[in-house]
Amino acid sequence: MMQSKLKSFLFNKYRLIGILTLVLIVSFTFTSLISYNVTRTSIDSDAKTKILPLISDNIYSEIQKELLQPIHNSSIMANDEFLVNWVLAGEQDTDEIVRYLQRIKDRYGYFSAFYISARSNNYYYYEGILKQISPVDDHDIWYYNFVRTGRNYDLDVDNDEVTSGTLTIFINHRLEDSGGNFLGVTGVGLQMSEVGEMLESYRQRFGHLIYMIDSDGLILIHPDQDLIENIYIREMEGLKDIGDDILKNDDLTHYYEFLTKNGEVILSARYLPDLDWYLIVEQDQTQALKAARLGLLGNIGMGVLVTLLVIGLVVIVVNLYVSKLEEIASRDELTGLFNRRKMDELLSREIAFVKRYGDPMSLMIMDIDYFKSVNDTYGHHAGDHYLVEFAKVLQEEVRLVDYVGRWGGEEFFLLLPKTNTEQAKELAERLRYAVEVTQIESGRGLISRTVSIGIASAQSGKMDVDEVIRQADEAMYRAKKEGGNRIVIWE
Ligand code: GH3
Ligand code: MG
Ligand code: MG
Repeated sequence: MMQSKLKSFLFNKYRLIGILTLVLIVSFTFTSLISYNVTRTSIDSDAKTKILPLISDNIYSEIQKELLQPIHNSSIMANDEFLVNWVLAGEQDTDEIVRYLQRIKDRYGYFSAFYISARSNNYYYYEGILKQISPVDDHDIWYYNFVRTGRNYDLDVDNDEVTSGTLTIFINHRLEDSGGNFLGVTGVGLQMSEVGEMLESYRQRFGHLIYMIDSDGLILIHPDQDLIENIYIREMEGLKDIGDDILKNDDLTHYYEFLTKNGEVILSARYLPDLDWYLIVEQDQTQALKAARLGLLGNIGMGVLVTLLVIGLVVIVVNLYVSKLEEIASRDELTGLFNRRKMDELLSREIAFVKRYGDPMSLMIMDIDYFKSVNDTYGHHAGDHYLVEFAKVLQEEVRLVDYVGRWGGEEFFLLLPKTNTEQAKELAERLRYAVEVTQIESGRGLISRTVSIGIASAQSGKMDVDEVIRQADEAMYRAKKEGGNRIVIWE
């Protein structure tokens, strides 16, 4: 009965640990994921409401600084009396215009300054005449395209022929006489690498990719120079689906989210009407979420650690209680000796040892003589006291390897491993004598009793538990019948 209760408790122990582990792991994971999601949402909204707009504004004002001044200056060139007059006078002195272009280039630190005449087709630059432009020269197509649009000015990213191919932003401006007749195109060129460096420094400092595209989606300014004028936004990884959408917007800043093989990206696209370009700022969410991911891992790691600690603690406490319970279940309450239940268990084990190793083992059963009269004379309480003291006497006399137990009432047993009948008898005699000479103070006089002892031994594997008990019991009754205070060995 007790044993089955213990078993079900043990079974529940593992179930309890399982449930506890599950609850802890689930709740840790759940709270960690919630906090990760909160962080993620706030990083997302920060990107859209703060970081990307701020960068976009900063870059825009930088671009304005870089580009609007040259746009303004090329407009001044196009309205310069000197230039118009010099052209109308028939482009006589090349030195004069060369000095003029040189001065503008040096004064503002531009990369180039030029004038292209519609009359002579001469391409003047800051050191002389570069060439004659021609509609069949691939490199001059921009000129004919620009003239055809009729626009006052435009920006063109192109390779500079003077410096054999430096990537340059040209600001082209129409030149007209006072009657509005077209004379040619003048303007300045800026070195692209400076703008590129600014964007690259943003990428390195804040991890944001910033670039610009024209109204067709062609990349014009990008920290990666190889992409410039080479690739359209809709051809780029992850941007296929939103490329056309971006180019439809010509008012506010729009935000997009897309996936690349490296993770999630938030993109802001802002139309710049002065330039007819789009400013694109990309934030790598995977990078931005790195800290949050680490935090999540840390939280889960901590959760696992705490779970292990708690489970460890629970295991220790439960084991402690189980062994305590087992201890309680195997002891006699009054004397603290082993009880009958434990004795059955021990005896089966010892008999198994006898079977296995062949060593003899003895069982001793003893009954206190005329114990009832102790209760009758001194009271039940004194009887109990005598039993406790009696138990102490037994324990003092036996070896450490022997088991002493209370059979019940005033009957006791000793389990003696590796002990044959002869050795058991010697011990029995010692015990019998020790009891006989022991006197216990009851409060109403000294109590002294004797014992009757029966001994049975298991010498071979043929004995079983019940048989050994029966024999020892029978021997004890014979001792009692023969007058008590004696030892009988079963034969
Ligand atoms: P015998 O010599 O034949 O063994 O006589 P006895 O009086 O010892 O045996 P009997 O079986 O007639 O009585 C045993 C008594 O032991 C009965 C009961 O009053 C007493 N007893 C049993 N258990 C306890 C106990 O836990 N405490 C006390 N005080 N007395 C007990
Ligand atoms: Mg008895
Ligand atoms: Mg008795």
